[in-house]
Amino acid sequence: MYHLPVLKNRRTLLERADKFISDIYFTDCNLRGRLYGDSCPLQSIDSFLSSKRITFTEASNQTFAPYKVGDSFGPTWWTCWFKVTLNIPESWRGKEVHLRWESDGEAMVWRDEQPVQGLSKEGEKTSYILSDCLKDEEPHRSVPKTQVHCCFCNQLLTECLYFLLFSSVTLYIEMACNGLFGAGQGSMIAAPDPNRKFSVQKAELVVFNRDVQEMLTDFEMLIDIVKELGEGEQRGFQALFTVNEMVNLCDPSDPSSFSRAHSLAHTFFSQRNGDSQHVAHAMGHCHIDSAWLWPYEETIRKCGRSWVTVIRLMEKNPEFVFTCSQAQQFQWVKSWYPGLFSEIQHYVKKGRFIPVGGTWVEMDGNLPSGESMVRQFLEGQRFFDREFGIHCNEFWLPDTFGYSAQLPQIMQGSGISNFLTQKLSWNLVNTFPHNTFFWEGLDGSKVLTHFPPGNSYEMKGKVEELVKTVKNNKDKGRANHSAVLFGFGDGGGGPTQLMLDRLQRVQDTDGLPKVQMSSPDKLFSQLQADSALLCTWTGELFLELHNGTYTTQAKIKQGNRQCETLLHDIEIASSLALCRDKTFIYPVEKLQELWRLLLLNQFHDVIPGSCIEMVVDDALRYYEDIRTDGAALLHDACGALGSKGNSPGVFNSLPWERHEVIQMHEGPGTPDLALVRVPSIGVSPVGDTKPVAPVTITGQADGTLLMENGILRTVVNKDGTLASLYLINANREAISDSCHGNQFVMFDDVPLYWDAWDVMDYHLQTRKPVVEVVQPPHLVYSDGLRGSVRFTLRISDKSTITQEIIMDAMCPYIKFNTKVTWAESHKFLKVEFPVRVRSPNATYEIQFGHLQRPTHRNTSWDWARFEVWGHKWADLSEHNFGVALLNDCKYGYSVHKNTMTLSLLRAPKAPDVNADMGTHQFTYAIMPHTGSFQDASVIQAAYNLNFPLRPIRCPADTEPWSAFSISTAAVILETIKQAEDRKGALVVRLYESHGSSVTATLRTTFPIREAWHCDLLEKPDPTRPAHITSGGITLDFSPFQIVSLLLVF
Ligand SMILES: [Zn+2]
Repeated sequence: MYHLPVLKNRRTLLERADKFISDIYFTDCNLRGRLYGDSCPLQSIDSFLSSKRITFTEASNQTFAPYKVGDSFGPTWWTCWFKVTLNIPESWRGKEVHLRWESDGEAMVWRDEQPVQGLSKEGEKTSYILSDCLKDEEPHRSVPKTQVHCCFCNQLLTECLYFLLFSSVTLYIEMACNGLFGAGQGSMIAAPDPNRKFSVQKAELVVFNRDVQEMLTDFEMLIDIVKELGEGEQRGFQALFTVNEMVNLCDPSDPSSFSRAHSLAHTFFSQRNGDSQHVAHAMGHCHIDSAWLWPYEETIRKCGRSWVTVIRLMEKNPEFVFTCSQAQQFQWVKSWYPGLFSEIQHYVKKGRFIPVGGTWVEMDGNLPSGESMVRQFLEGQRFFDREFGIHCNEFWLPDTFGYSAQLPQIMQGSGISNFLTQKLSWNLVNTFPHNTFFWEGLDGSKVLTHFPPGNSYEMKGKVEELVKTVKNNKDKGRANHSAVLFGFGDGGGGPTQLMLDRLQRVQDTDGLPKVQMSSPDKLFSQLQADSALLCTWTGELFLELHNGTYTTQAKIKQGNRQCETLLHDIEIASSLALCRDKTFIYPVEKLQELWRLLLLNQFHDVIPGSCIEMVVDDALRYYEDIRTDGAALLHDACGALGSKGNSPGVFNSLPWERHEVIQMHEGPGTPDLALVRVPSIGVSPVGDTKPVAPVTITGQADGTLLMENGILRTVVNKDGTLASLYLINANREAISDSCHGNQFVMFDDVPLYWDAWDVMDYHLQTRKPVVEVVQPPHLVYSDGLRGSVRFTLRISDKSTITQEIIMDAMCPYIKFNTKVTWAESHKFLKVEFPVRVRSPNATYEIQFGHLQRPTHRNTSWDWARFEVWGHKWADLSEHNFGVALLNDCKYGYSVHKNTMTLSLLRAPKAPDVNADMGTHQFTYAIMPHTGSFQDASVIQAAYNLNFPLRPIRCPADTEPWSAFSISTAAVILETIKQAEDRKGALVVRLYESHGSSVTATLRTTFPIREAWHCDLLEKPDPTRPAHITSGGITLDFSPFQIVSLLLVF
């Protein structure tokens, strides 16, 4: 095999081989220097600059002006269209010919009015292949040997326009003025530089020497094997001697010498593993953030560029398989690139372009409500089914900042039993102990879960990644199969030919894992078949990083919560209207459109607030669209409910009777208040109800204010804090001794890198109470139904807090309507309630349930959760007493010892330099209670705070009526909507909220003909009719179980 002995000097042999393929050193004589052969300039390049992202048709009709390579253009986010004319020289017949295009923007090549390939320097795609092997029939210029004249115009052929036209190719290149990762000023995540200039650095025709590329790949893989296997393994030395001998044999200037070197490499790669070797399931992938460091509109083009390139690779590589998530992105490509979409459909049919994940977007795993998560799957799975006849068997969420404990049940309910992610490898404190395991959710549902041990969703097919895949696998001996997802990601890009070539070489090479092109179904069926020894992880998958994303971009969080609430109410009101009035038209299309906007904004860099300002603007505009259009839908539905009467009435969308003070009209001036009693999911006229005990506010000698409503009594200090919060019937003080409730606190908030994302543990050391009073608490309103006091605090010379503390008659909690003018930099505002409760655990609401997290810092797993997420409420209870902290749009909490803290506002500067600057309005509430939080109706109180009773008009003689009710408070009727596939039928969704096994009866005043259990995709189970009696439908629940029913009227 080797023809000369080698000295025992590993280093020189290795470096010699390295230099042989270096793109920096010795390119005059090494192999790399021979990659390209002859080159020639393009015949012409003309350009046209557009501030907008326009269609090809629009662009091709513009006036183009000559462009010189190297000239700069811009600014950021504009688009430069190039019209390129080229002639391939006759002498290149038989050669592989590329258009070599190097620019600092992302580009798309258009040919014959169709997108044909993406180009991106960062994504290692700088060549568009014009011909694999130039043939006579392909357009190129045959240069006449003698001075031939054209028979039509009599000019010299080389100067004849007709001749040039027919022998040339015209391409269009659409170049976005942004890179794969946007246009960050100075660093990737810095806010984009709006004035960046771009240029084309290289535009030429070249002969590409494929045989040199093949040799380079052989060399690179062998050199990497030497490096990665190290000196401890003899296989590494075998690679070293092989690659050294290849240098001996290979003369870069003589391609005929390549075959001997190549066959040496081939021999090495063909030395096979034993049967026990680990199997790497390679799948092409291209993680495209639906918006992040670029706006949604650019993502549409990223999808086009990335996926058309995938199609080109599929044409050349019959084994190549590509996995692709997010129905929204397919929808975009369908409407923007219909030709490409049909090519994709073709490869989906072949099982090679594989839609995965089953969701509308790869959403955040923490913040969306339970119903939102259901809709992610409903919209996603239905889209994939309709467009491709595909049902996704796996949930695919590689890049999200934590995973709710309810996801396993939601997955199973959506026909999914497998889950792939890897983000927990980013944990800052603890190493997650498994790569392949069963994940058991809140209700006991289990899904088979895989974290690719290579800890990446954008591998490059390199030896290093394959070695890591085996080495890092924490389930050695239990799971012998792993995923290797390869392709540029985050900003799109996807796989390259080189990645495929690398993986192709080492399909079964002794010393490396076996590599097979695979699919999620193949991987998971292997893992399932061999799952006897797998461990189980119970409860949430908490990411110990990015905990600032529960708070950053408060207006996006608020938009999400308010729009979730609005869509909930529209669906219920519309369903009721449909049942009462058969002429009512349920707004199917409009609701789908609004849901899809909401779901889009739940993307894992939008709702977390980790996006640039342009994305924030888009997101807030979408919320405004939902609010405006939603208000009209709600108005129509409520009009139908009130039979178009003209007296004041109230609509209650929640499944329990409510007895509350409501404000009949919004706006300035004295509030128009009424105390109303409205039955469960129903309507009531506004009557003249008097409270059992009126609200009173009394000024005290020491300057404090005493507020009382018969349930609570509180003392407001001169700085707006609460000196006391007393639960009257229980004779219990809720505020801790010598402490104050409602204490605003500021922290320095400077993370290590990920500004919008991270709040670090050390910020807790910088706590400073906000103490400067601008205006002390003073009475604003007091009429027996409501009492309120207002005060203003100064945070700094740029920021203030104005708060109205509101006590309503009959209300078990005090509301804090808060307005903050916020102009801070790297600060974190929170509010604290030190309470007289001792418990090792606090409880937090999550999707369709709640869970507990420790209030102590015993272990690293405990203290790593110094900042956690929750939804509408958190509670700290000891036996028979507790305090709940409610909110209407916040998600960040911490409960340490007996101090309950709600996170309010942050001020990161990257990637949005203006993040959270401006005025914010939000409400939180404090609710002391006896008994458990379940028995004290904390869950209901938090719903009440978030779902205001809606004023409607109804006839003066309306009797209060209820459409639906539940026999037990443990079960919450969350959703009522028209069934997707059955007009006039309803789907209702209920869940057990206490964590108890319970039997509940769902009552309705509508005549139900049939009722079926169905899954979250609304597919009825023919074996499970729900039993209807005169008393209603009786249902059994286990703790936190979600039940969906299809009701036919
Ligand atoms: Zn991502």
